[in-house]
Amino acid sequence: MYQQLVKTEKLEAVEQMGAAISHEIRNPLTAAIGFVQLLKEPTLPLNKRTEYLNIVGEELQSAERVIQDYLTFSKPALEYLEELNVRKELTQVINILRPTANQYSVQITANFALVGTIRGDRQKFQQCFLNVIKNAIESMPNGGQLSIKTEYSEDDITIQVSDTGVGMTKEQLQKLGEPYYSTKGAKGTGLGMMVVFGIVKAMNGTIQVDSTVGSGTTFYFSFPKMMKNEVL
Ligand code: ADP
Ligand code: MG
Repeated sequence: MYQQLVKTEKLEAVEQMGAAISHEIRNPLTAAIGFVQLLKEPTLPLNKRTEYLNIVGEELQSAERVIQDYLTFSKPALEYLEELNVRKELTQVINILRPTANQYSVQITANFALVGTIRGDRQKFQQCFLNVIKNAIESMPNGGQLSIKTEYSEDDITIQVSDTGVGMTKEQLQKLGEPYYSTKGAKGTGLGMMVVFGIVKAMNGTIQVDSTVGSGTTFYFSFPKMMKNEVL
């Protein structure tokens, strides 16, 4: 089993995240627009027409995937700090991903401790766990178990996301969170985990990952608990 404590400090590059992402959306859209121009040619043979339409479809899907990894919930430039009920926010994310889990024959178990809140931007928090849980589901193409647990200590709230999926090698774990690192070919953006690391860093949290190839992965997130007399 490999273990990796992720150093969120080294992620200064995440500050340029917004610029990188809009570039990643603009590129496929520019390509799609180009092929739509070509499709306007009335003498274009049918086989070319089909080919170009397929390219337009793929480019639009590619832009959509980037938007999903980054902008499902909000415009990420804006930061609204709120008192977040972890259980409530995670339940909402799980409900959004239930159809995807069903599609992958993945069973979800949630075990949430009752007390405690953290401080953060609701939409970013949800985006973070959407990306993590989506990856967990996608790691189980032949079905499996997804378990989401929260635990509270005196100072911290720990969120544990476990899957029985393909797992990662030590080398793959080290690359996790690097921009554009993906093992999913055209179906991946390699931006989801970069977004996760950036959000966790901004929330003063930590990430730890345990993974075993062929048997699964567990992510441990820890966030400082909001204190009773703390003001936002
Ligand atoms: P994408 O999902 O678009 O590939 P991400 O940044 O979300 O990009 O994830 C990067 C890579 O990290 C994935 O391609 C996958 O190889 C690996 N990964 C992330 N989460 C898991 C997981 N739960 N199990 C196995 N591999 C994972
Ligand atoms: Mg992903």
